[in-house]
Amino acid sequence: MNCWHCNTELIWGGDHDIDEEEDCEYSIVTNLSCPNCKCLVEVYLPKENKGNNTMNKQLIEAVKEASISVACCLDEVSDVTEADLLHIQEQITHIENHLNIDRNMDTTHETIS
Ligand SMILES: [Zn+2]
Repeated sequence: MNCWHCNTELIWGGDHDIDEEEDCEYSIVTNLSCPNCKCLVEVYLPKENKGNNTMNKQLIEAVKEASISVACCLDEVSDVTEADLLHIQEQITHIENHLNIDRNMDTTHETIS
């Protein structure tokens, strides 16, 4: 990796684990410095796996909630209210949002490979 400003090859200074207690989005910060213009570059590595796990968990919760809500409505079809339907729609919106993220990730992946 070269310096943003002078294009000299950067020198690796070290990797530092970011403290879990800081509740940071990133797990590792890498320090790089430029021997020519003395620039300092920090590269933050995102906690990708953690993020995906959280996303999948939310997706599963939304699917479960929608499924239970539909089952409840089917139990007593005559008692279904607008609020029930709005609640189900909300869960489906959550699911759609998560699936859109997945679709974008797949597209990016295909472009790379
Ligand atoms: Zn430089």
